[in-house]
Amino acid sequence: MLTTAPRGTSDIMPAEVKTWRYLEKIIRKICSLYGYKEIRTPVFEHTELFLRSIGETTDVVEKEMYTFLDRGERSITLRPENTASVARAYIENKLYSEQPPVKLFYIGPMFRYDRPQAGRYRQFHQFGIEALGAPGPNIDAEIILLAVQVLETLGLENLKLKINSVGCPRCRPVYRKKLQEFFWSHLKEMCIDCKSRFDRNPMRLLDCKKCHDMAAGAPSIEENLCNECREHFVGLKELLTAAGVSYEVDNSLVRGLDYYTKTAFEIQYSPLGTQSAVCGGGRYDGLIEQVGGDPTPAIGFAMGMERLLLALEKQKLLPEFDENIDVFVVCPKEETFKTAFATVNNLRKAGLKVDHDCLGKSMKSQMKQANKLRAKYAIIFGDDEFSRGMVVLRNMESSEQKETPFNDITAILQSEVRKND
Ligand code: ATP
Ligand code: MG
Repeated sequence: MLTTAPRGTSDIMPAEVKTWRYLEKIIRKICSLYGYKEIRTPVFEHTELFLRSIGETTDVVEKEMYTFLDRGERSITLRPENTASVARAYIENKLYSEQPPVKLFYIGPMFRYDRPQAGRYRQFHQFGIEALGAPGPNIDAEIILLAVQVLETLGLENLKLKINSVGCPRCRPVYRKKLQEFFWSHLKEMCIDCKSRFDRNPMRLLDCKKCHDMAAGAPSIEENLCNECREHFVGLKELLTAAGVSYEVDNSLVRGLDYYTKTAFEIQYSPLGTQSAVCGGGRYDGLIEQVGGDPTPAIGFAMGMERLLLALEKQKLLPEFDENIDVFVVCPKEETFKTAFATVNNLRKAGLKVDHDCLGKSMKSQMKQANKLRAKYAIIFGDDEFSRGMVVLRNMESSEQKETPFNDITAILQSEVRKND
């Protein structure tokens, strides 16, 4: 137990960190193209925030939260997602006084007591967007386009964008009632979760994986939207079409809690199989009020970064990363070690990637190490040469080597490395 990480968590090893940084770089670049600024909120919050915001009838709150009492007897929860925290931060930091929409993004770890499997972990990472303060479908279209641009820039093709409208507190109650009437006769066959949600959140019946079959022929939300919601949905579809993005309307894509309104969407990447949802999002015009702010229209999405990386790996879309160092300093003799050590330090201060032997190894194994680290150059401190104020500079690729005055070495290497950059 001491030597294994908790179930559903894993170490991101140095070689993988490179792929994470690659992904994060693309995300940050595209967010800046769209004017979204990064926010970093704490990884834990008061439990109450999530109960209020995510909703007590959701899988996340019912089964998946990491909740504990801290030493001050406060109930704390490791964030299972970041929208609630951003909503809280928006209110706490008075971001509502800025020109709307306030456009934010985040990247970070989330925690859910999920059943671990490929693409599903207990600590995982999300990249997400929140746009607060704008009510119209144009911002909905904007964030969808941002998500699509991230995925396409990574090279993913054949993405499936599904959109829906979940209505609003005006039109939804009527629809809910129609759904309850429709599902009433199936009450006995439903899974336990759906049974318990039947009264409070019947829309969840539409996307329950277990009860999927009985939803065939259920009344569709699209036919039950009020004028405002219908216009909003039509507006979104027109903007997506104008931007050349193809989509599929899927009326079973639901959320069902009161503060979720209008647009809901998901982007799937089917080669991932069961864990094919790489991005989920929607409008939550009632959320800010729900957590104590003034009514504020808002929309956001979250992407699962592990799933993205799995997809990139599967499609061989991850680039090769350059692991070279610039210089390896070879110094097998103890007498010259201090000078060599100072040289390493000087070269690093000059901005070069430099390494050297720390274990007192032989000349031969130090040269091997230089090769292994794929050093571009080696500086060899030989007794003979050094007594004359010289070192040997070896180009590791061409195997060319020449005696070089020790005092010139930093300047020479600096210009050599820069030349090849
Ligand atoms: P699912 O139905 O797969 O459980 P979800 O509805 O719980 O997804 P959201 O809350 O919408 O997912 O989160 C947004 C995205 O975060 C998902 O589309 C997915 O890519 C990712 N995600 C969610 N839970 C996990 C997890 N346990 N491990 C890895 N990624 C996850
Ligand atoms: Mg889930």
